[in-house]
Amino acid sequence: MKQDRKTRTKLVHEGIRRSQYGEVSEAIFMTQGFVYDTAEQAEARFDNLGEDEFIYARYGNPTVRMFEERLAAIEGTEDCFAAASGMAAVNAAMMSMLKAGDHVVSSRALFGSCLYILEEVLTRFGVEVTFVDGTDLDQWKEAIRPDTRVAFMETISNPALEVIDIQAVAALAHEQGATVVVDNVFATPVYSKAVELGADVVVYSTTKHIDGQGRALGGAICGTREFIRKTVEPYLKHTGGAMSPFTAWIMLKGLETLDLRVRAQAETAGTLARTLEGHEKLARVIFPGLESHPQHGIAATQMGGFGTILSLDLAGGKEAAFRFLNALEIVTISNNLGDAKSIVTHPATTTHSRLSAEQLDILGIGPGLVRLSVGLEDAGDLLDDILGALDTV
Ligand SMILES: *Cc1c(COP(=O)(O)O)cnc(C)c1O
Repeated sequence: MKQDRKTRTKLVHEGIRRSQYGEVSEAIFMTQGFVYDTAEQAEARFDNLGEDEFIYARYGNPTVRMFEERLAAIEGTEDCFAAASGMAAVNAAMMSMLKAGDHVVSSRALFGSCLYILEEVLTRFGVEVTFVDGTDLDQWKEAIRPDTRVAFMETISNPALEVIDIQAVAALAHEQGATVVVDNVFATPVYSKAVELGADVVVYSTTKHIDGQGRALGGAICGTREFIRKTVEPYLKHTGGAMSPFTAWIMLKGLETLDLRVRAQAETAGTLARTLEGHEKLARVIFPGLESHPQHGIAATQMGGFGTILSLDLAGGKEAAFRFLNALEIVTISNNLGDAKSIVTHPATTTHSRLSAEQLDILGIGPGLVRLSVGLEDAGDLLDDILGALDTV
């Protein structure tokens, strides 16, 4: 790996495997399996798989491998394993390394399905899980014990956009020998310094910014070669959460433009947040790039950028939020994020509707809260659309 190359170069070239035809664009190896010249060769491959050898697409595939190597190079990890979705990746990262009797500490502000895995699945298999306010280091300190195997966090969190101090939590976790797993979707590989700050494992839903154009589900786990090949790979290859070669090709193409897209989207998100802050119809504008954000300083040092998502808390509650959503003409109502198209979501009635009123309150998901994923449209057009919709409230 050529470590001196910059991110933009790696996003276009890293991991490339050309066939005998010398194609420019990455080939889609849409094959379930691979043939062997001889029985001896088949035996040898099953015995000890070489760098550029494949057996079965559930175990690995050249197009998927190109994507894995490219993402690992960007994230700064030794290796990566791709999965069928972000949730397949989160599930595999956790299930592959935990066993009954282990203890997990997790920030409580989690994506609904991550919460389901930690709260409902792991506990059914005898794993004890303690939830903490991820922004409160004292709570992490108190919860992490000698038998804690994993510290799990999602930072920036969805949709309240809390930023957790990865370096401080990693130091506490490592003192007790725990593995630090970061669900890094909101930070994106562009702003992620998670590994540098002490994360051992970084998980992505590639459905979000890495595809970035709303086409396919995908996931990835980045970590040391030892962890990926000895712990994750056996679990994923035998339980079936493989990424399709066609999806891997979509994700490779997504990576080529990732840096350009995410930086443009983040710039527009910053412009919108600064312009909308203080608007009379809004109780609050939440964006890590605003000085009013409680973890603004951590976000600035930890990421050097603030992401592409902002949340708006409409003073008029649910009725105002629905009126706002329905009046938007460019921004579409959906629940994806990181897309080229700007998307607005009302978490309390959709992505987080499973949570109790008490949980919603703890997580800061009020009835007026809307999450805005900023796309690639013109910033002025988006602002006009949002201000026009706020006028109808
Ligand atoms: C979307 C998302 C996931 C799940 O990813 P899928 O690709 O939808 O399975 C997990 N974590 C976070 C933070 C997400 O935003």
